[in-house]
Amino acid sequence: MGNQEGLDRRRFIQGGVAGVVSAGLLPAGGLLAAEEAPAAAADPKIREYRTLGRTGFKVSDISLGYCNAEAVIKMMLAGGLNYIDTAESYKNQPAVGKAIQGRDRKTVFITSKLEIKKEDTVEGLTDRFRKCLEELQTEYIDCMMNHMPEEVELVRHEAFHAVMAKMKADGKLRFVGIANHGVSWAEDPKTPMETILGTAAEDGRYDVMLLAYNFLAREAGEKVLRLCAEKNIGTTLMKTDPVGKYYMLKERVDKLVAEGKEVPDFYKKYLERLQKDLENAQAFIKEHSLTNPAEIRAAAIRWALANPHVNAVCCSAQNFDQAAAFMELSGTKLTRRESRQLQAYADGFGRYYCRHACGACEASCPKGVPVNTIMRYHHYYEAHGREKLAMQQYARLTTARADVCTHCEGHCERSCPHGVAIQGLLTLAHQRLSLA
Ligand code: SF4
Ligand code: SF4
Repeated sequence: MGNQEGLDRRRFIQGGVAGVVSAGLLPAGGLLAAEEAPAAAADPKIREYRTLGRTGFKVSDISLGYCNAEAVIKMMLAGGLNYIDTAESYKNQPAVGKAIQGRDRKTVFITSKLEIKKEDTVEGLTDRFRKCLEELQTEYIDCMMNHMPEEVELVRHEAFHAVMAKMKADGKLRFVGIANHGVSWAEDPKTPMETILGTAAEDGRYDVMLLAYNFLAREAGEKVLRLCAEKNIGTTLMKTDPVGKYYMLKERVDKLVAEGKEVPDFYKKYLERLQKDLENAQAFIKEHSLTNPAEIRAAAIRWALANPHVNAVCCSAQNFDQAAAFMELSGTKLTRRESRQLQAYADGFGRYYCRHACGACEASCPKGVPVNTIMRYHHYYEAHGREKLAMQQYARLTTARADVCTHCEGHCERSCPHGVAIQGLLTLAHQRLSLA
């Protein structure tokens, strides 16, 4: 191994732990260190547009997920990005509203979302819709989504559809959509993502869907994408970059070793497994000549865009460098090398990714821990840089939390069809979400 190769590998490993693990793959605060990110073009441009299903809108293949920085949003719009995904609960509508001021409103497609509960009324939903309009400083919203309904009844919620119909008639809304990435055991074990979105597709009133789909969790998403193509429903994606757990795990291993802490028996065994996986990871890094964790993320997004039924990928960007790195993926194709890397990644690290829209193990937990929900909050913390929200939601759980996992036999792990090392991941998630 030459000196440069050795240096690159060390940078990858060290940079991955220090930069990527500490704040997720998309750190919220600072810029990615130079050796961790591809050089951002000074003037990034969108190069591909796809038709967003029956809306007919030509949407940029790289679109914007959560972003709370007006200047970053403006930069992306200037580069040709034209779809912004926001929500009442994201608390970033004012920033989006400021960013779109002065633009030809027809050139940008704004999607917002409302979380619907059974007891919601026409009056209440109307007020909330109007508040979204005010925050976005716009006369109309292109698409209002039903945000994460967890039961099929909520897909057909009468008051929601009545308000949407009225808003359309008043010129305040163009299309109705739905967002879903799975449910927690505590609420309903029978309604995974494909059931909710399949119901929405059959319902006929939804024009756009936002769903979870990535190279480690493809089956459910592919079913939904095919159905949307048949019905000409627009498709946008979230959670396309499921990487990063490896770095988090290594950080935890290093910290425990450095602190010389006493750990429970199960954790000692888990650490042994982790150490072995980490050794395998070193071989993986060398074999695939990876010098940069962002390479896997970029490949994961290109992989998702390679599906012809995908109209756009919503990427969460917190700063200019992240935004530019995402936009540079527009119109690019997955290479054979990247495809091999992703397969190797899935083979090597797929067991560190709790699949979105799953929950298959939750019924086996004697304590009723909402496994998938906790891992989703952890994803918000890690990948979106939304630490406060994630910790608040975790603190609000009324079910058992993952602190109970430390002294358990790991029933969930044995029942996971994907072989995810979930007991340890839950323990790590608890530490991060509760600062334990
Ligand atoms: S641990 Fe496995 S079975 Fe449980 S929610 Fe995650 S992917 Fe699904
Ligand atoms: S480790 Fe035990 S307590 Fe924790 S989710 Fe799994 S089965 Fe439940």
